[in-house]
Amino acid sequence: MVKVGITGGIGSGKSTACKVFSFLGIPVFEADIVAKQIMNTDPEIRAQLINLFGTSVYLPDRTINRKYLAGIVFNNPSLLAKLNQIVHPEVHKSFNEWCQNQHAPYVLYEAAILFESGFYKTLDKTIAVVTNEDERIERVMKRDKTTKEMVKQRINNQLSDEEKIKLADFVISNNDNELIIPQIVELDKKIIANG
Ligand code: ATP
Repeated sequence: MVKVGITGGIGSGKSTACKVFSFLGIPVFEADIVAKQIMNTDPEIRAQLINLFGTSVYLPDRTINRKYLAGIVFNNPSLLAKLNQIVHPEVHKSFNEWCQNQHAPYVLYEAAILFESGFYKTLDKTIAVVTNEDERIERVMKRDKTTKEMVKQRINNQLSDEEKIKLADFVISNNDNELIIPQIVELDKKIIANG
């Protein structure tokens, strides 16, 4: 099974690109969603997170308090690393199990921090979705009803597009004046041919 990672900064359109791959029949593993599910449901992970961050890391309904967690780890790289050390191995285990049940020429692993986490090294190929900063800011402000400053802060905390392009095998450009469907159809053919 060929495993392809797909990533992109906030608002780049990686989820949108993954929807197109899905339409083409390619299974997509959404690592960030699975991470959230694991934090919400795995009792061992819950215990470790409470041990590290305190009981406020969970809301009264027992779901993870993402805002609280983000507030703590945002400017604390060492706590962020500890959080990732707890959650990432479980996400990776879940991905490998999930792969066993897929029947497609290749699968996609979608994650916001594919390169930062180092997980890309275990995959066969990688795709970076890139969009210029002004468009990303505008799209996220509209989608999340948030401010320009908040989006900029998130962008500054992520690997730059230039660095992602250097590390990726393939690039999808998702600016307003570019069409992603033809790029993805082309890429799909290429991955299948080389897989
Ligand atoms: P995040 O990392 O924040 O989850 P993402 O990279 O997955 O973001 P999307 O959610 O796919 O990005 O896209 C961000 C927003 O921009 C969405 O509201 C989406 O509908 C919109 N969008 C994506 N691509 C385009 C496009 N080419 N033109 C206009 N809007 C777009």
